[in-house]
Amino acid sequence: MKRFFSFLPTAIILAVFCLFLASCGAPSVGDVGAIRQFFAMDTAMRLTVFGPQQEKAADAALAEVNRLEQLLSRTRPESQISLLNQRAGDPTPVGLDREVIALISASKGFSKETCGAFDITIAPVMDAWGFGQSGQEDAYRVPSNQKLESLLSLVDADKLTLTTEGGALAEVGMAVDLGAVAKGYAAGQLINLLKSFDVENALLELGGNITALGTHPDGAPWKIAVRDPQDESAYLCVLPLRDATASTSGGYERFFEAGGKTYHHIIDPATGRPADTGLLSVTVISPNAARDDALSTALFVLGPEKALDLWRRSEEKFELILVKTDDSVLITEGLEEGLAFKGEGYTYEIIRR
Ligand code: FAD
Ligand code: MG
Repeated sequence: MKRFFSFLPTAIILAVFCLFLASCGAPSVGDVGAIRQFFAMDTAMRLTVFGPQQEKAADAALAEVNRLEQLLSRTRPESQISLLNQRAGDPTPVGLDREVIALISASKGFSKETCGAFDITIAPVMDAWGFGQSGQEDAYRVPSNQKLESLLSLVDADKLTLTTEGGALAEVGMAVDLGAVAKGYAAGQLINLLKSFDVENALLELGGNITALGTHPDGAPWKIAVRDPQDESAYLCVLPLRDATASTSGGYERFFEAGGKTYHHIIDPATGRPADTGLLSVTVISPNAARDDALSTALFVLGPEKALDLWRRSEEKFELILVKTDDSVLITEGLEEGLAFKGEGYTYEIIRR
């Protein structure tokens, strides 16, 4: 069995372009902002912050990422999510901080919005495939049909109940994994925190989630590049981003090969298997960073038609870049202005409402 694990998420590739593109303008002489590069939530992160207290603000933002990881990671035994998971099957609610309750509640809402394609109770299935245990070389495996069937009854966000003070998982063996939403949530929290330091311009790269606060200090929108899912040294398009998040989910980040087949980490909660709906990657762009992150995962599971259907009927607007396995790219009309398509070997189409 061949195993792969990419420690270089989309944002690393993007960061190169972001920096290059950001430097095309004319920032105040010599000021590149306060930059913090670090590894958290099992991915590479980079924060670029401009403002009167930029060093202080960037330090506070970094500390906030670490605080949220302590609170939300299911691989940290002392986190609130671990405490909740350890008590699965016990009907007495586990006490949780208000912000954890709010994030779980929002996540349950994202499950409803995506007809269950997004489900934070996916953890037992992730474990069965060996995902979520980075660094454990021998963790990856293809579970039997029987094993997956037995685990599917544990994947159900409705069996995760909340009170005003805590939460409970209805069945022994259930567990919560916030891997598809917590980086987006963190981005939203960081933006609020940075604003409290009077920061008006920042670019936050948290793995595959990129969030722009305001514009580049030169007044032009931040520009980001979306990676070619089939070539980590190339990019598909460059687009402006202002007061919004771009979250990308794809099967190319975390995967392993067994018996000549590739298995990736985005799981369809209906089957317990890696989603296979004709997509290579999904990028969602919207002002709501947590929902944006959840949607990029969910729409990868739903596939292009259902993704566009949700895009058309959703009251809370978002925009999409869908990269299909037939090398075509669907880009929703809200992204047309300022878009520079660069994908060699790809065709693209602008989708209208
Ligand atoms: P996304 O598409 O945003 O998320 C995919 C991830 O979401 C999967 O890896 C899985 O965890 C989960 N998922 C899969 N299918 C679904 C679904 N249908 N619905 C909902 N969720 C789904 N990884 C480690 O290996 N070790 C760690 O110690 C570790 N610590 C972490 C701590 C935190 C706080 C967070 C947020 C993540 C952590 N991760 C860890 C997870 C790792 O960062 C994830 O693989 C990563 O979040 C995947 O994000 P993505 O943006 O690439 O993909
Ligand atoms: Mg996501």
